[in-house]
Amino acid sequence: MNKQKESISTFRKMAAVTKLLFGTAARKYPAFFVLEVLRTLIGIVSPFIALYVTPRIVDELTGDRDVRKLITLAAVLVLGEFATAMAGEIMGNFLARYQTRLENYFTMLIGEHAMHLDFQLTEDKNALDQLEKARTGMSWYSGGVYGIAEQIFSGLGNLIKSIGFIVILAARVPLLLLVMAAYVGINAYFAAKRNEIDLIAYGKLSKVNRLFGYFGWEVVDPRYGKDIRLYHAEEMMTESWKENTRRSIAHWKWQADTGLKYLMGAEVLGFARSLITYFYVGLLALRGVYSIGTFTQLVQAAGSLDGSLGTCAMSLFELMKRCNYAYEYVLFMEYPSPIPKGDKPIAKKEHVIEFRDVSFAYPGTEKKVLDHVNITITPGEHLSIVGLNGAGKTTFIKLLCRLYDPTEGVILVDGSDIRTYDYAQYMEQFAPVFQDFKLFAMPIGENITLEDEPEKAKKAEPRLKELIGTVGLGEMTEKLPKGTDTEIFKFFDEEGIEPSGGEQQKIAIARALYKDSPVLILDEPTAALDPKAEYEIYHQFHTLAGGKTALYISHRLSSCRFCDCVAVFSGGKIREYGTHDELVARPGGLYAKMYEAQAKYYR
Ligand code: ADP
Repeated sequence: MNKQKESISTFRKMAAVTKLLFGTAARKYPAFFVLEVLRTLIGIVSPFIALYVTPRIVDELTGDRDVRKLITLAAVLVLGEFATAMAGEIMGNFLARYQTRLENYFTMLIGEHAMHLDFQLTEDKNALDQLEKARTGMSWYSGGVYGIAEQIFSGLGNLIKSIGFIVILAARVPLLLLVMAAYVGINAYFAAKRNEIDLIAYGKLSKVNRLFGYFGWEVVDPRYGKDIRLYHAEEMMTESWKENTRRSIAHWKWQADTGLKYLMGAEVLGFARSLITYFYVGLLALRGVYSIGTFTQLVQAAGSLDGSLGTCAMSLFELMKRCNYAYEYVLFMEYPSPIPKGDKPIAKKEHVIEFRDVSFAYPGTEKKVLDHVNITITPGEHLSIVGLNGAGKTTFIKLLCRLYDPTEGVILVDGSDIRTYDYAQYMEQFAPVFQDFKLFAMPIGENITLEDEPEKAKKAEPRLKELIGTVGLGEMTEKLPKGTDTEIFKFFDEEGIEPSGGEQQKIAIARALYKDSPVLILDEPTAALDPKAEYEIYHQFHTLAGGKTALYISHRLSSCRFCDCVAVFSGGKIREYGTHDELVARPGGLYAKMYEAQAKYYR
């Protein structure tokens, strides 16, 4: 029952893989499949030339010895084999070019899909595992579309050839076909066993590989450099790497050792099959049942049938195995989205935002990080969100930006549940500068505009220049020989720059302003900024935001004085709400206390 279930699911996987992978590949590279079909046809024709011509040559040599006929037959044989071999090589050469193309194309599709995944999946262990499995499953594990197509076409070609050989043998030595059937059956069992082992190993390897990759490659990333050196983490990292290498090797060893007996079994089986074949056909020839020409044809056909059936079975099992690996790609591409997406259009304009009794716990956790939050933000309002670390301020923003959905309650924009809006259009409404924003190893300009086409980037130049000036980076970029074309970081360019914390913040702010969304959000800048610099950034942001809705998050109160309203978060609740002056005047209030504690910075 279980076995049957497994085999059904393997065939389903094969169907799903073929449909998705080949459908995608055929739309991009149709010529690849045309070439595969042509090469397969050539491969099918090739052995039958010898199979039909050689016996005639032998019979002619042992019979009439007509020189003209012999020359003609030899010419057909040699030229036929030469032509098919040449054509096969040429096709193979063309086909090989598609290997890298297909590989790169699917790697890009995986990356693209990973970037489009709902944000909360980037913290989901299962989704991360699935991404890793899709990557490895589509690389050397399965050979991707190229590797799978090779197996399918090789299997089909050999199947058709086998049928041809069987027809020849069935007419003269039908008993031999029984031996072949037994051979194929037992061999199939061995191959299935090896398949099972490979799949088990593969399932376990993805985690080991991720750990190995992390300790092997991530930690040598220069960004970790300072912490590793100053905290002497080198030894610990190397040890972790060694430990994961040991684990990885243990997996491979287990896989090889467990599969060895089946490999050896297959060898012994092949030996027995050859022995029986030659003995039986040889015996018939000795008895003079067939002409010498026919004898050579039968020996050749039997030998070729061995080969083609074996290859066919191998291709089928290899195909099943590869499809099992590549199925991880299908699973990843169809990974269920935890966030429902509506289709209601939403225009880029000022909005009324309302949190109505919103509570939230991060997926997989119990703790309510937001606890019955109620607040309305009017169009164009500048709201300051303050509170100590861990109060839930960033989470509030993440919910608003739909990186997560509330566990309870509802967020309304212009009176509609935000889940009903078109997701991409909804995302266009917000331009946040997160605390942990990331700049890319790309030119400053591209970091700000993130335009994907050169023409759009060209068009963006005047606005880019203006923004660079507005955020106060004009002086810095003017000093650089390549201006805004200067690369950030030195990954790909010796002349790349390492901007300071404040400069990075400014680039990120310019990026947010360039997006021109109705709601601007500034999460508290990294602690690297001193209160004065932070005050300046907030003040500047306030001016730049102008009439747009602007949300400022901070545990310092530098932003509050120029904001319309202040919401004080504590323990996931909004404890106090009002203008700066109202809250400061509230005796014993949370805000008043925080203000008093920090006032020395602002006086
Ligand atoms: P704040 O911005 O006020 O400093 P956050 O909203 O970042 O606070 O965090 C609120 C609480 O949620 C903290 O206790 C934090 O540890 C927790 N938290 C933040 N992000 C996650 C996450 N991805 N998974 C689980 N818990 C989280």
